[in-house]
Parts: sequence; structure tokens; C-alpha cells
Amino acid sequence: MIGDAVDAKGILDRARGCAVGAAVGDALGMPLEFGPRRPLGGLVREMRPGRLPAGTFTDDTEMALAVADSLLACSVLDGKDLAQRFVAWYRAEPADVGNHTRAVLSRMATGEAWDCAVGEVQRTAPASAGNGSLMRSWPVALVHWRDLDRLIADSRLQSQVTHSHPECVAAVSLVNAIIYSLLRGTAPAEAVLMALQCVDVPASLRALVQEAPKRPRESLQNSGWVRHTLESAIWGLMTTDSFEAALVQVVNLGNDADTAGAVVGALAGAAYGHASIPERWRDALHGEWPLRSGRQWNAERLADLADRLVASAALADPRPAG
Ligand SMILES: [Mg+2]
Repeated sequence: MIGDAVDAKGILDRARGCAVGAAVGDALGMPLEFGPRRPLGGLVREMRPGRLPAGTFTDDTEMALAVADSLLACSVLDGKDLAQRFVAWYRAEPADVGNHTRAVLSRMATGEAWDCAVGEVQRTAPASAGNGSLMRSWPVALVHWRDLDRLIADSRLQSQVTHSHPECVAAVSLVNAIIYSLLRGTAPAEAVLMALQCVDVPASLRALVQEAPKRPRESLQNSGWVRHTLESAIWGLMTTDSFEAALVQVVNLGNDADTAGAVVGALAGAAYGHASIPERWRDALHGEWPLRSGRQWNAERLADLADRLVASAALADPRPAG
């Protein structure tokens, strides 16, 4: 069990790494989305233009910023507040909205309560288990870095606001529990093991996570299915030894490259810290939030957001840090 005496400075650096890393992975993967797996001799290692200019983050980071805003406003996640923020984003006509997310948010936009909208969409498509809630999971891990029970409870709710399939809920909780340990300096392999002990994960998903590091690159499908995104991210985290290598390996799997990039970016950023993120990627990173507000975000602003999320936990918890 992790003691109360924590390295506050180390946690802050790794929390910044998590936030900036997720957005960097999203932007690096953006031009590779829907593309084929790249040959090992031709891996993309630089921010490139795609549908958007080079370095632009996409819906993965935008929705994560909505989660962060909701957490900063409410401290403990409130499903209704979060749903309202997602609907506001959806109404601003983002360039990208996942199919399942669109089905849910379009119902909420007509005034339907979030839990009814999600329930109805899941009832008509019971097998739907996309990665749309996993891609935006990290703010919950940062705001609840001191409290694993609350981290898991809010991770579950964060998913359920759009993605209620048990595998989506479990994947989001698992990734955030891994981040919880990584923030404390735990090595990736041990952090994954600890998370598997703490989170209720369906047996088949548990087996997939345990097998992921052994999977050959050619067998990873990296689709929009939450199982595939989780598998790619765990594979990238555990088969490399730097932030840069983890991201390069995962985004070059193609297909849903930006989302897998965002998830492995959050994990690798939490593992290796802010300073491990290549400067050339941090310098290129940008995006707009809230959408249509004209407010530009860069790596510095994301690092500042990580500080605020971490500090809000310290304020809510009377136990001293460090
Ligand atoms: Mg995207």
C-alpha cells in the first residue's frame, strides 16, 4: 500500500507529463488516423499535418478538457454537469465526434437526461464498446491522485456518462489506476499489476491486458474498439523504455492512431514525467478550447491545468503532501 509520505514535486512533474503527454499523443497520431500500420523503416516521429495543421490536438483532448473543467467546477464528478459540458462541445460542431458519442450526445442535446440517453443507445446497440471514454480519462486520475477509491468511482462515472458498456467502464478505471501508481514513481509493469488487483475487470479484458506486452506488432489492430485501444496502449507502455519510443510505436499502428496515442501519451507521460516529452513535440502542440472561443491552448497551458487538478485534490484532502 502506498504511504501518505509522497514526493509532491515528482507527482507534479509526472501529472504534467500525463496531461501534456495525452495531448501530444493525440496530435502526433492525428495525421495517421484511419491509415495503415506504418513499416518499421518508415515510422513517423514528427508532428505532421493531416486533416488539421501539424501539432493540432483533436476531440480526444477537447473532451478531456471538458472533463477537467467539470472536475474543477464540481470537485467530485457530477454526471449532469459533465453531460452538459459534452453537449456544449457537441453543439459547437467539433471536427470529429465518435459514432457512439454522437448517438448519445445528439439525444442529450434534445433535452433527454444523460442516463436515459446512454441507456437507450446501449440498449439498441448492446455490443457497442468504443474507446470514446478511455481517450478522455486522465483528468480524473490527476484530480483524485490522493484517493484511489474516489479515483475509481469517478472513473466509472466518467465513462458511464456516454459509454456504459462494462468493458469501457473497466478500461477507464484500469488506466486511471495505472496512472495513480505511475504518478508515485512505480515502474510500468508493477503499476499495471497493482491496477489489475484494485479494479474490477472482466476476465477476458484482464487476459487481454496481461497478454498485451507479448503481442507481436503485426497482430495489433488498434481499432476504435476499447479493447484494441487498451491493448495498444499497454503494449506501447510495457515494451519501450521512454516517452518518445512508446508514442512512436503506438501511433504508427495507424487506424485509431490519435486515440491510442492519447491513451499511451497519458500513461507514458505519467511514467517518465514532463521533461521526458520531446521539446519539438511540446512546441508544436496547440488547439482551441472551448471550441469557437478563440482561446488557444499549448503545452504550457496544459501543464498549468495539470497543476490545478493536482492542487484541487490537495485542497480537498487535509493530509499534507510530502
Ligand atoms: Mg480524435
